[in-house]
Amino acid sequence: MYSELPPDIRLRKVLQQRLESLRRAGVSHLPRPTADAKKPMAAAPPLQVAVETPSPTPRTVDEVTPPVDVPAATPAVESPSLFSPEPKVAVRPAAAPVDRVAALRVLQEEVAACTRCAHLAKTRTQTVFGVGNPHPRIVFMGEAPGFDEDKQGEPFVGAAGQLLTRIIENGMGLRRSDVYILNTLKCRPPNNRTPEPEEVANCRGFFEQQLDILQPEYIVCLGAVAAQNLLETKLAVGRLRGRFHDYRGIKVLVTYHPAYLLRNPDDKRKTWDDIKMLMRDMGMEVS
Ligand code: URA
Repeated sequence: MYSELPPDIRLRKVLQQRLESLRRAGVSHLPRPTADAKKPMAAAPPLQVAVETPSPTPRTVDEVTPPVDVPAATPAVESPSLFSPEPKVAVRPAAAPVDRVAALRVLQEEVAACTRCAHLAKTRTQTVFGVGNPHPRIVFMGEAPGFDEDKQGEPFVGAAGQLLTRIIENGMGLRRSDVYILNTLKCRPPNNRTPEPEEVANCRGFFEQQLDILQPEYIVCLGAVAAQNLLETKLAVGRLRGRFHDYRGIKVLVTYHPAYLLRNPDDKRKTWDDIKMLMRDMGMEVS
């Protein structure tokens, strides 16, 4: 939108637009950065979403780990005890006093009005922003909307999305609504082709702001497009998986894209290994 302007003016315009968006969302003050703000996040408390509402009855992860039935996980949630000593670093430092729902809504409106990729704006049915818990412990990040997502306006609702839902619900014992799901690109590329670097560059500000608002503890990158663009690397998924990476103090796990797993079912076991590593790190019980 401001690409013809010099970088400093462009930055000022983008900041002004952002502040105006936040003001419209009811945010009147932003916290002054402290020395602590630059430090990595402290460990977060146990999974709160699972305490508040029961998860669906766990089933087997048939699609994730064929042919073996893996008993579904039960979130390892510690009930707060009156007799526990005060945790020292159990709580993440309070972030900006932003109403996340309102901030996400404002950003979603900005996304819906975006025409930076004129060709995608012309062919999309609608933008696909993201869905889920505005206070998620985990964000799943995919590539771009496909046919079904473009029609329905929600990420991961087609065949690949159904596999992702099984991973979350059957594999992890959570509900889809406990987590947040978003894509790198908010518009469907024609024929589901891989997003072009320029398209990702146009959308980068959107997914970065979305993650800034959501402040998850973990981001799970599904496939190379999400992983390479979030982590700014050219390494393949096979080289990135199996360990945690860092994005602004958030732990990032890379695994295979569900659409790839549908075409290559033998690799489902590797994704299940990745998910188990995530669950252990989160303090969830893995059976
Ligand atoms: N693939 C993606 O990467 N995202 C979707 O939303 C659907 C399929």
